[in-house]
Amino acid sequence: MNDMELDVWLYGDLARFAGGTSGGGYANLTVTLPAGSTLEGLLDSLGMATGERGFTFINGNLSAMPGIQADLDRELKHKDRVAFFHLKSMWPAQYRQGASLTEEIDEALHKDPEQGLRHSWTAKSHVNREQISRDEQLRYRRTLMLPEIGESGQEALKAASVLIIGAGGLGSVSSLYLAAAGVGRIGIVDPDSVELSNLQRQIAHSTEAIGTLKVHSARERIAGLNPHVLVDTFNMSFNPDNSYDISSDYDILADGTDNLKTRYLINDICVRAGKPYVYGAVYRFEGQVGVFDALKGPCYRCLFPKPPQEDDHISDMAEEEGMFSVVPGIIGTIQASEVIKLILGIGNSLSGRMLLCDVLGMTFQEVLLSKNPDCLSCKAGQ
Ligand SMILES: [Zn+2]
Repeated sequence: MNDMELDVWLYGDLARFAGGTSGGGYANLTVTLPAGSTLEGLLDSLGMATGERGFTFINGNLSAMPGIQADLDRELKHKDRVAFFHLKSMWPAQYRQGASLTEEIDEALHKDPEQGLRHSWTAKSHVNREQISRDEQLRYRRTLMLPEIGESGQEALKAASVLIIGAGGLGSVSSLYLAAAGVGRIGIVDPDSVELSNLQRQIAHSTEAIGTLKVHSARERIAGLNPHVLVDTFNMSFNPDNSYDISSDYDILADGTDNLKTRYLINDICVRAGKPYVYGAVYRFEGQVGVFDALKGPCYRCLFPKPPQEDDHISDMAEEEGMFSVVPGIIGTIQASEVIKLILGIGNSLSGRMLLCDVLGMTFQEVLLSKNPDCLSCKAGQ
């Protein structure tokens, strides 16, 4: 019998089952088991009692909850991603009777322990499996009616993970549409807090959220929109030291940043990891959007080989130049659309093309792009 490898995530105090190698808020390990092993077999191998009260997600789908033992017989497959969340660390308000969902969300948000790189959270756990599937059938009904997507497409969305770098204008819109569409796991990276002057275009944040972390504000908004989505928050800037760790767990990276250095970093990480980079940029009344997938076409560096130097006087967008508020909305929506198409493998992506949008004149132009044979990033990624 062949062996299979499982990608196992232990969150909160369950990280102790990783043999004391917890890196803070979670532990991630590869477990090798005989093919055909069940969830119960995995629990045994980890030394985790089946009575351990927690949640199990397999490939992003809720699989077992306290009191539902049937799922323990579930057969696991090679390369499955299995995540365990403990109730106590996961959601402190879980057992409070009579608390409204909003209160529970508030409490969970504010008690989130600020340790480790990643903080994962979902509101999904308050309903049982049958309710979840009924809710999802209705929630995604209009998507399920599309023959190009259907049930298998919806499952693919649920199994997918997308990292959004920046919870500003672009990230606000792309994260909300991806959450609404049912992308199962969304990571959000942003170091900033919400300011009053953001709200003109950063629609994931509310007036009440001023002064709070953008990643928390966006997470709360996503939870209100679709509690089935697992949200990872990274309250930090995306930089050369953390970018590989942060992004390694996601299928696709979406650009919601406001600076050029970060774009080069996202690009280089994506080229190296063979992941698509869904690019978006906004400037006054204009926007650009494209897909850089170095496996299929050009990367960002194929177009712009080197970051501009300080004396090139290229400014970092809205801060200095002003911004027509709907431009990030239009570009962010197109980014979300491209991400969803990539996940589903439908239509023609913007790989090898860049769409330029001028809202004042309301024109769209398409620029065809090709791979640069001398591109440093593509060469290094081969
Ligand atoms: Zn390139």
